[in-house]
Amino acid sequence: MAHVVIMGAGIGGMPAAYEMKDALKKLGGEHQVTVVSNTDYFHFTPSNPWVAVGWRDREDISFSCAPYLNKKGINFVASGVDEILADENRLRLGNGQFLDYDYLIVATGPRLAFELVPGLGPEGHTHSICHVDHAEKAYHAFEEFCKNPGPIVIGAVQGVSCFGPAYEFAMIVDTELRRRKIRDKVPMTFITAEPYIGHLGLGGVEDSKLLLESELRKRDIKFITNCKTIAVHEHSLDYEEVDRNGEVVASGSLEHKFAMLMPPFRGIPAVANCEGLANPMGFAVINEYQQNPKFQNIYSTGVICAIPPVESTPVPVGTPKTGFMIESMTTAAVHNIIHDIKGEKPEKCGTWGAICLADLGDRGVAFVAYPQIPPRNMTWAKGGKWVHTAKIFFEKYFMRKMKTGVSEPFYEKALLKRLGIERLK
Ligand SMILES: Cc1cc2nc3c(=O)[nH]c(=O)nc-3n(C[C@H](O)[C@H](O)[C@H](O)COP(=O)(O)OP(=O)(O)OC[C@H]3O[C@@H](n4cnc5c(N)ncnc54)[C@H](O)[C@@H]3O)c2cc1C
Repeated sequence: MAHVVIMGAGIGGMPAAYEMKDALKKLGGEHQVTVVSNTDYFHFTPSNPWVAVGWRDREDISFSCAPYLNKKGINFVASGVDEILADENRLRLGNGQFLDYDYLIVATGPRLAFELVPGLGPEGHTHSICHVDHAEKAYHAFEEFCKNPGPIVIGAVQGVSCFGPAYEFAMIVDTELRRRKIRDKVPMTFITAEPYIGHLGLGGVEDSKLLLESELRKRDIKFITNCKTIAVHEHSLDYEEVDRNGEVVASGSLEHKFAMLMPPFRGIPAVANCEGLANPMGFAVINEYQQNPKFQNIYSTGVICAIPPVESTPVPVGTPKTGFMIESMTTAAVHNIIHDIKGEKPEKCGTWGAICLADLGDRGVAFVAYPQIPPRNMTWAKGGKWVHTAKIFFEKYFMRKMKTGVSEPFYEKALLKRLGIERLK
């Protein structure tokens, strides 16, 4: 009998649990799947920008995990992992208990490293949309801001790998301010560590530079690229702008009455402190089969996986890990564990392609990068109202999928067809 433990109940962890349970059932025998997470609920991170302007409530995008997992015969423990004792195949949980595993899938997402910039984060002077708790707090502050508006700064600091939500949030806020007819009272600035608008940590995706620059211009949002955030204060932010050699060419201070800056990501402490599992930034090291080379019964999926930057840039940026890519990593991890149980060699690899629907409030931009790291077989970026509609549809679809584990190949195929992906299969 094998006991597979999954750390994390997010976009990587929930599907990993359902897929693992299904695969083990087919295999036969008394195998067990347990999910351990530091909260008792799932929340759909991609909808957080909507929560922060009041377009969604917490209840719309989150649910309690236990009933859905238990219904499928999956155990759920609502206690975070404090330590991975990889040599002993056991976890030390936050509640003081120990949990043994035969196979471990790490799907914890990142630690949000706000401490790397003074004043960054919800404990400092900027808001965050990375967690539903942060997005709710941002919404209350946004409502107060709208009563007495002023300058807004939105963007991503040095070392960020996840740029899409920063663009989304800037355009969503712009849309909401226009709806409230107070946009004329709000000077907006977008600051980013990217060498150019639309780089996205991916070296750009087709015409992403043109598309996103054009969106910012159309919406009167000023922007600063190659930007290092030095410190954030209650109503201002110090920054430096560098040239392609990394030399400072300008510096200054931006006023803000409301600010949201994406933070750099690092590995969560339990992973970061497990020698042999983590790289120096605390991310889980994996081979092409999602498997750690040293601890071969530990697999990882999602944002916790270590992947190198696409290219070096004057201000450091990381490479994003997005939903469809995470799904393919998860499927690969599950398949390879099954192979291992059967005494076979791992053979399944993730697709490492990025498919992203970025919502811009009233329209959106869709990106396809296959593989994610250039040079690529396919790059595609297009904007339009259909992306906004598709994002709303896929939110509902993915929420259902996270509750039931059931995917509807019809919808996924329809999206892939719209994006021209079936040509690669
Ligand atoms: C604001 C935002 C918007 C995004 N929008 C998109 C999008 O539109 N499309 C897209 O493709 N990608 C998007 N992404 C990128 C990516 O898809 C998401 O970040 C996704 O949630 C990552 O999935 P994950 O499973 O790695 O982490 P998560 O979904 O964050 O899940 C991590 C889980 O691990 C748990 N956990 C944390 N610490 C512990 C611990 N010590 N022990 C046990 N459990 C723990 C957490 O509670 C959570 O359940 C977005 C990212 C952000 C931040």
